[in-house]
Amino acid sequence: MNLEKLEVEKLGIEEIKSGIGQGFFSANELIVETYKKIKSEDRKVSAFISLTEDEAIRRAKEIDKLKNYPSMAGVPVVVKDNILIKDTKTTAASRILEYFRAPYNATVIKKMEKAGAIVVGKGNMDEFAMGGSTENSAFFPTKNPLDLSKVPGGSSGGPAAAVAAGMVPVALGSDTGGSIRQPASFCGVVGFKPSYGRVSRHGLMAMSSSLDQIGPFARSVKDARVVFDVIKGSDPKDATSLEIEEKESKKKSFRLGIPKEYFVEGVEDEVVSEVRKVIRKIEKKGIEVEKVSLPHTEYALACYQIIMSCEVSANMARYDGIRYGLEVERPEAESIEETYLKNRGLFGDEVKRRIILGTFALSSGYYEAYYMRAEKVRELIRRDFEEVFEKVDAIVTPTSPILPFNIGEKIEDPLAMYLADMLTVPANLAGLPAISIPCKNEGLPVGLQVMGERFEDENLLTIAEEIEKII
Ligand code: GLN
Repeated sequence: MNLEKLEVEKLGIEEIKSGIGQGFFSANELIVETYKKIKSEDRKVSAFISLTEDEAIRRAKEIDKLKNYPSMAGVPVVVKDNILIKDTKTTAASRILEYFRAPYNATVIKKMEKAGAIVVGKGNMDEFAMGGSTENSAFFPTKNPLDLSKVPGGSSGGPAAAVAAGMVPVALGSDTGGSIRQPASFCGVVGFKPSYGRVSRHGLMAMSSSLDQIGPFARSVKDARVVFDVIKGSDPKDATSLEIEEKESKKKSFRLGIPKEYFVEGVEDEVVSEVRKVIRKIEKKGIEVEKVSLPHTEYALACYQIIMSCEVSANMARYDGIRYGLEVERPEAESIEETYLKNRGLFGDEVKRRIILGTFALSSGYYEAYYMRAEKVRELIRRDFEEVFEKVDAIVTPTSPILPFNIGEKIEDPLAMYLADMLTVPANLAGLPAISIPCKNEGLPVGLQVMGERFEDENLLTIAEEIEKII
């Protein structure tokens, strides 16, 4: 690649580092070019809720003064708008936080900045990460850069679209039931959800605390790995985060499992045929592929819906309009009750629906019947995976059962929208690392999901890199 010509849409992390290191361009020049690109592309795509241009330019100039460049020196990133950046507007695409400025940095932001990355703006999303199309943003929908009539997926649709449109090489999203992998699949980019516990959630607005995880979008598995290496590790501010020793031996030979429960009714023919094509290519390379079974898969979506909405109802209680409410234009209220009603009335329909469902499921007498029962089913799902991982190193499936759909097509039908999560939620329930890699098909993009053993994220990335080469 010709580094002297600054084609921002083609640069990966490595090229940026060597381009700056060898003096072909400065971090400042790269950021200026990046904003030119953003300003021309984002008029069509609407991936950004806000831009952080002044701060980004200031940071780029700082990077240019360094003598040694850290691993992500000068790399422009988009951050989903539910991740806190100090003194920066952080809305989670909700009216209730429209004027909220974060008082501190999320741990992942501190780590990214230390590594030299430069945040160029905040990415659009479904309100509080609830949705699969980015149409639940209270502000505007994001469009799929590969076909502007289609949704980019969600809930991290803005970050995914920004990478797909060539505006930035990498982005950060969050994944509770597929919100990194599914938009990656819809936009034809790589999206990686690490194991639950590998990346600190401190400074991520909680949706469903036992499922949420932060992870990267990128144009290659290699770049996703660089970001993961920067953001991983334990954090005293997130009690569920852990330090995991990276194993010495990185397996080059591996066995893959294909679970029959992921190729069932509801998965579109085109998706199945693309994924099968890739599996055949993998087999031809001499990699062992065997059929496996995860018998409790059919209960995963119902189990997710209950656990997720219960945790959502608890987590959303903090948005009462007093602690995190509107700083400007606070609705006038006569009493505390009225304050609650007016402020909580600002939630969108999908958020309200989930608060109501979760509150119902947690109410006295129902807690055992729903939440506790779902937790038991979750254990069965976890055990299914454990058994399969005794035989294989990774599991390969489609990421999304459906192709990117038209904007407006499913927004009136929440159940159809929920069904689109059927293949991604099991990894969240079991806490597994999972990545979506684009299949090189013609037409609308199809993503290949590769799931690995809990905490074996590095191994999964190595396997994903091998598969990416074969595709
Ligand atoms: N689409 C899923 C949902 O609506 C996943 C959301 C997420 O991962 N944040 O719940």
